[in-house]
Amino acid sequence: MTSTDDLKKRREKEALRIRTFLNRQRSVQHSSLKGGENTVAFVEERLCIGCDQCDIVCDDNAIELYKVPMLSPLMNVESNRKAKIIRDACTGCRLCVLACPTDAISMIDR
Ligand code: SF4
Ligand code: SF4
Repeated sequence: MTSTDDLKKRREKEALRIRTFLNRQRSVQHSSLKGGENTVAFVEERLCIGCDQCDIVCDDNAIELYKVPMLSPLMNVESNRKAKIIRDACTGCRLCVLACPTDAISMIDR
């Protein structure tokens, strides 16, 4: 009979396999990202959760967070935050794209 310990080990092994697979997929996706001075980052507001990760990694002060009203009246907070790219300051380095947990940022032509 399978013991709880066996199940736990199998679960950890499976979690590691999935994480490795997702990381590999992500690195393939990122290696095909365009970047450089002729590109600029773009935030899709709908996907942004205001987590601030992009702002933390951006060395060029090219990202600002602004407040928007919450969509759901069930949440007892007045506002949510969204990221905005300051186009002139953006160098096209792509760091923010790599940092964003929700894939809200993409690189577009200038
Ligand atoms: S691409 Fe680089 S410079 Fe531009 S906003 Fe993202 S992190 Fe900042
Ligand atoms: S990292 Fe992504 S989700 Fe977080 S604030 Fe920046 S754009 Fe929004």
